[in-house]
Amino acid sequence: MTDWPIYAPIKGALVIVGFGSIGQGVLPLILRHFDIEPTRITIISADDNGRSVAEEYGVCFVHQAITPDNLSQILSPLFTREGGFLVNLSVDVSSLALVRFCRTVGAFYLDTCIEPWSGGYTDPDKEMSHRTNYWLRETSLKLASELGAGPTAVMAHGANPGLVSHFVKQALVNIAGDVGVGAEAPRTRADWAALASKLNVQGIHIAERDTQVSDTAKVPGEFVNTWSIDGFLSEGMQPAELGWGTFEDALPEDGGEHEEGCGAAIYLKRPGANTRVRTWTPLAGPILGYLITHNEAISVADYFTAREDDGTVTYRPTCHYAYHPCDDAVLSLHEFVGNGFVPQANFRLMGDEITKGLDELGVLLYGHAKNAYWFGSQLDIDETRTLAPYQNATGLQVSAAVLAGMVWALENPNEGMVEAEAMDHARILEVAAPYLGPVVGSYTDWTPVTGRNEDLFPADYDADEPWLFKNVICR
Ligand code: NAD
Repeated sequence: MTDWPIYAPIKGALVIVGFGSIGQGVLPLILRHFDIEPTRITIISADDNGRSVAEEYGVCFVHQAITPDNLSQILSPLFTREGGFLVNLSVDVSSLALVRFCRTVGAFYLDTCIEPWSGGYTDPDKEMSHRTNYWLRETSLKLASELGAGPTAVMAHGANPGLVSHFVKQALVNIAGDVGVGAEAPRTRADWAALASKLNVQGIHIAERDTQVSDTAKVPGEFVNTWSIDGFLSEGMQPAELGWGTFEDALPEDGGEHEEGCGAAIYLKRPGANTRVRTWTPLAGPILGYLITHNEAISVADYFTAREDDGTVTYRPTCHYAYHPCDDAVLSLHEFVGNGFVPQANFRLMGDEITKGLDELGVLLYGHAKNAYWFGSQLDIDETRTLAPYQNATGLQVSAAVLAGMVWALENPNEGMVEAEAMDHARILEVAAPYLGPVVGSYTDWTPVTGRNEDLFPADYDADEPWLFKNVICR
């Protein structure tokens, strides 16, 4: 495709904080789809990685780590004109500090995950419930209500979190059409929850299988992945978390509940890097994924909660990530956990050396009349390379969502801080679609008890209610 649409002008400065795997993939899409001269773009990054990419596009690159002490001093001189946009694609820089800054200068904001300052995920002085994404999100929701309306700040809008929340809405509409409940998309949060409840969607997996491989085998002492290894290790070391649905019968024995906030999620007193769950994707079939904590596990469960007028919860889906990373990342995680959660000495983010494979990323809605339905993107590496430079399939799914989130912010400029669920899913999917490869929906009769033979090793599983979380998690 050569006649790419220009969606909007970006007025003032565009600042990209962090220029790793996602930043380098996003830059060419920004220049392709927005009206902005490269000279108005500045990249600020804590290392020199990607400097040549910035130079190729004529964009200013500043090698500088942002800290709580220097944030305002570094960023203020860049936002001298009205407006502007800050896109946060870093690790270790507080999302909420950047949102506050953007509000002071009237700039738009977008990130792909709610990041704390360095060390925030693994501070042993913090109690476990304060090292969760539930806690980070609650802090973000408080800031959203404190700041109120103002320049739009899109929170946690990559592939997941981000795009998958729009997949959930489209999947609900598709199932509703297929079971004859009506296929019109609801307009309000309450109506979306009512639809999910009416369809008896007991829960949702963010079910991902990354099959990208290269000819360069992982060696001992090396962590190999298709996106941020720092990011993956950080979230893998947080407690596993899941939106906790009304259909579940009992809290897991290592489950922890939060004392404050929306109440939509629980955490497990174990790291996600060592917590496996059963799930299904169309091409891979039944697989084991890691229950890594993610913002969308909480925001989706919260958004689709139905309540009585007095606030009593009547319906909520269980929701969690079930992530089978690329094979070398599975080996890397295995080594990392075996070594007492000490990170490997060397990190390798796979790019040009990938020879084949795809990232099958979607949502599996289960428990309804047709058992389970997966809806999502099956983007392979060959198609990725025809669509955009400087990224693998995983990265392009994220870049597409960043692009769509930026478009939505510019089209809806005064929304304050928003989560993916509050945005228009049809518009987001329309903008992202050209970069997602085949976007497919697929029903399955698989359940977490399919094919299980517990005669040899009797276990606590419930064949009558196959989708209970206790059947999903591997003990
Ligand atoms: P990466 O590890 O490849 O790059 C991280 C970048 O952050 C680097 O350029 C690094 O220099 C920069 N950085 C680190 N500390 C900094 C500081 N103090 N000041 C300025 N820059 C700093 O990571 P990535 O794969 O590009 O991911 C970027 C972010 O996107 C991470 O938060 C990651 O969790 C998130 N992510 C989200 C999704 C999603 O689908 N929602 C997917 C992938 C990544």
